Amino acid sequence: MDRLTSQEQPNADAMTEWRQYLHAHAEVGHDLFETSAYVADRLEEMGLDVTRNVGGTGVVARIELGNPGKGPQLGLRADMDALPMQELTGLPHASKNPGAMHACGHDGHSAMLLGAADLIQRRIRSGQITGDGAITFIFQPAEEVGGDDSGAQRMIRDGLFDRFPMTEVYGLHNAPLDEAGVMYFRHGPLLCSSERVEITIHGKQSHGATLHLAKDATLAMASMIVSLNTLVTQDVPPLETGIFNIGEAHSGTTYNVISAEAKIDGCLRVYLPEVAETLRQRIREIVEFSAKTFGCTAEVQIGPGYPAVINDDRLLDYAIDSATRLFGADRVTTESSRITAGEDFSFYQQHAPGAFATIGNGDNGWKDGKHIGPCAVHSPYFDFNDAVLPTGASYWAALVEDRLKAGV
Ligand SMILES: [Zn+2]
Ligand SMILES: [Zn+2]
Repeated sequence: MDRLTSQEQPNADAMTEWRQYLHAHAEVGHDLFETSAYVADRLEEMGLDVTRNVGGTGVVARIELGNPGKGPQLGLRADMDALPMQELTGLPHASKNPGAMHACGHDGHSAMLLGAADLIQRRIRSGQITGDGAITFIFQPAEEVGGDDSGAQRMIRDGLFDRFPMTEVYGLHNAPLDEAGVMYFRHGPLLCSSERVEITIHGKQSHGATLHLAKDATLAMASMIVSLNTLVTQDVPPLETGIFNIGEAHSGTTYNVISAEAKIDGCLRVYLPEVAETLRQRIREIVEFSAKTFGCTAEVQIGPGYPAVINDDRLLDYAIDSATRLFGADRVTTESSRITAGEDFSFYQQHAPGAFATIGNGDNGWKDGKHIGPCAVHSPYFDFNDAVLPTGASYWAALVEDRLKAGV
């Protein structure tokens, strides 16, 4: 909670209502028709200037103060999409849409940014937030889709940065295994890049009895899988991070015919672009030479995927200072762990410097309506912890106030 009690406070009851409504009406990917309409309606009720259908179902609201071009033009981003999975929390506000569930807390992210928009409006009216600049509230779909067709990319391709100029962008994700309401920051690389690696091997089919006439795609695939698993030990510098996993491998159609085609589907994750480039090159070499060894040929498709989220030092310092002013140093962690998952926030950072933080979400697991303790994201028992909503909204509002006060 905000320690500075003379200020306008976040509206916790409204945020809880919004969050639980969004949770109950979970939608997936780019098809967030009800979700985005609900978010846009709430923003319009607050009297904000709202643009719907940005990049599909994206919603943008903007506030300009004084001479906007003279000050920092801030982008605050929340994601709105749920996951294609069945909810098992048993809560009264559980998803009404079968096979769609807010298991990553994006309902909470949207509610916190809505609460922030409301709070910032009130603080501008009361004269607490002043200065030159602009605030763009970005509500994006399809953070979870992966690849180059994410919600951030579609909104950017629809002119997000031209239509709503931004000189710095900020993001926030809940961290369910960390203490509720504590803010977590880290300088430099925070979240990994994530690129899909699809390999197709072409061999020559033959009856199993005439194996000498075949070029065995299964054998090439097996050799490739073993060799690809040496990437991390042989090619990643010992103090850096690189992860390569194979999630799927398929070959052949029946037991007594030698397979002419095999497929391997995996994922590459790193923090540093130079490590990514080395690993991409090594994957291509391993695939080519493993295929050749068995008389086969092969193709590799790598990405395009999410780049890594690497925090801008200056903006992260602003974010840390605002959180510390607001909550005290004991509620702010400045050396949080790196996260090996990906986030499409990195696409915004290709257009403006950015800083991404996480907020502890504490005990949030529910099964058959009963509390079961902390629960990781993407679990069918996950429910965003509503006690955290005012913390997130206060953080956004303090950051805006401090940035506008400091100027460019
Ligand atoms: Zn997720
Ligand atoms: Zn998420």
